[in-house]
Amino acid sequence: MSATLGSLISRLQPDWSIRVYERLGEVAQESSNAWNNAGTGHAALCELNYMPENPDGSVSAAKAVSINEQFQISRQYWAYLVSIGALPEPHNFINTAPHMTFVRGKANIEYLKKRVAALKDQPLFPDLEYTEDLERIAEWTPLLAKKRNPKQKVAATRIVSGTDVDFGALTKYLFTDIAAHGAEIHTNHQVTRLKRQKDGTWRLRVKHLVGGTPKEVNARFVFVGAGGGALALLQHSGISEIKGFGGFPISGQFLRTTNPKLVAQHQAKVYGKAAVGAPPMSVPHLDTRVVDGETALLFGPYAGFTPKFLKTSTWFDLPFSIRLHNLGPMLQVGLKNFDLVKYLVGELMANREKKMQALREFMPTAKTEDWELITAGQRVQVMKKDPEKGGILQFGTEVITGADGTIAGLLGASPGASTAAPIMLDVLARCFPDRMGEWEPKLRDMIPGYGTTLSSDPAAAEASLAETAKTLQLQA
Ligand SMILES: Cc1cc2nc3c(=O)[nH]c(=O)nc-3n(C[C@H](O)[C@H](O)[C@H](O)COP(=O)(O)OP(=O)(O)OC[C@H]3O[C@@H](n4cnc5c(N)ncnc54)[C@H](O)[C@@H]3O)c2cc1C
Repeated sequence: MSATLGSLISRLQPDWSIRVYERLGEVAQESSNAWNNAGTGHAALCELNYMPENPDGSVSAAKAVSINEQFQISRQYWAYLVSIGALPEPHNFINTAPHMTFVRGKANIEYLKKRVAALKDQPLFPDLEYTEDLERIAEWTPLLAKKRNPKQKVAATRIVSGTDVDFGALTKYLFTDIAAHGAEIHTNHQVTRLKRQKDGTWRLRVKHLVGGTPKEVNARFVFVGAGGGALALLQHSGISEIKGFGGFPISGQFLRTTNPKLVAQHQAKVYGKAAVGAPPMSVPHLDTRVVDGETALLFGPYAGFTPKFLKTSTWFDLPFSIRLHNLGPMLQVGLKNFDLVKYLVGELMANREKKMQALREFMPTAKTEDWELITAGQRVQVMKKDPEKGGILQFGTEVITGADGTIAGLLGASPGASTAAPIMLDVLARCFPDRMGEWEPKLRDMIPGYGTTLSSDPAAAEASLAETAKTLQLQA
């Protein structure tokens, strides 16, 4: 997120000086690291959580279309950066991976049909394929079909132009680029305090974690792009806009295989249906991943719980985040999300064999010895005050900005890194409203879809998909 914001600012306002403070020895080692997330270019091509069934049985495409619109903004920005040489050859960070949905059982098949009907005429979802034929599914990806009971009722959809993104590599490239334009990147530096000065600027206390003395830094604008560390820093800042917000940490694990025989039989990201109570981002999926030029398969995530807000922080994060103003909403969330608590306990208790069983629902021939368990990144879901319910758990992201626009931060997870560009454009619009007019021509030059709605203009949608696919060397 910070790398994207830095990249945008360094192009829109090259005379501004940018400093980045990162507590770890390298950038992109938390959520954005390739193996800490699933690398799905979230465009709602296959993720059912963006199109839940309404209580009356209807299915609306609105949320899926909006996620896809946001992903197109990121794609257009990455394509622009590739075209000017600011990002390297695209295969280093983005690759084609067909996006599929796979469901079993009559009710799920009926739902999938409704989803297809709602999406089939949407310009951003061209060539959506649907089948209930196991042989066809075997052509799309053999691992799903091999040794599956032919009597089982199954259905699948596919859009071949889906993507796998190495967000860790992308983050590093973006930071390298902004550093070449004068930004200072300080690793092993932890921001420990944020204080508003009388003149409206911010004073940051920064601790050098490998020796050196703490230093104080002044800034006119601060973006708290600290992932799971953002809530604590925003609370430190004392801005009233953070009141009522809390964080609910969900940890995760993936199964991974690099066995070339298996990797060769699966080139897709296949999303299934979430279990009852499962948070939407814990939908199981079997994915092709391309990281550092090597292809692997990933399955998961298996959710879990630790009170840490970052993979590399401590168990004090959750208790230390509790304030008088967020205690009520947090308790309400705890009381009203029994299904989620039950689901997380079940996931925590699941042993290796239970995890393999979940994988075998996708890949009946999966053998334990081929798969290793890896720890994914931490997600800190947003809990916030709600006038009607007292407190709600939110699965998206939330931009928090101070009233005077001198500070902003990002809470939450999904759809996350895929939508970093539109989220950071939102930060710019909220914090620098008086500059947006001046920046607009440059923004339109970099991101042709900026300020437009591609889904309501089929010709523009088609052109955007084709042009970005060409520049990013992806399947159109
Ligand atoms: C299991 C899992 C699967 C996911 N799958 C996907 C996916 O398929 N597609 C997708 O688009 N998104 C996915 N996401 C979400 C995505 O990973 C995140 O939205 C994105 O990486 C967040 O980026 P960020 O810059 O906000 O946070 P991070 O990448 O976590 O970066 C925050 C940085 O701030 C540093 N930091 C924290 N506190 C301080 C401090 N006090 N001082 C200095 N530095 C500090 C941290 O060390 C870290 O490097 C997934 C996330 C998880 C956990």
